Amino acid sequence: MTRKLTCDEAQGLYFDRTSEVELDAATNQALDQHLASCPDCQQFVEEVADMDAGLAGVLDAPDLNDPEETAADVARVMAAIREYEAGRGGAGRGATAT
Ligand SMILES: [Zn+2]
Repeated sequence: MTRKLTCDEAQGLYFDRTSEVELDAATNQALDQHLASCPDCQQFVEEVADMDAGLAGVLDAPDLNDPEETAADVARVMAAIREYEAGRGGAGRGATAT
């Protein structure tokens, strides 16, 4: 009998597995059993799959032989990173500086 996973554990492990972390066979089996029997986690799996597809869409260079196309993709990713960093570091800093 494999041990039972909680939803938190199952979702964490599923995320590990999609990040190419090696799970041992028993853990893998417990995860698959939980996913097969738990509607909440099935929903979670679908959301992760959607997110992966979205990311792949951003990072996918449709034609690697087209430098302009590739540069546009890189620029899009860089802009997203800059936006993220600006949002993270911009607020709440420097308010006390004179
Ligand atoms: Zn679950």
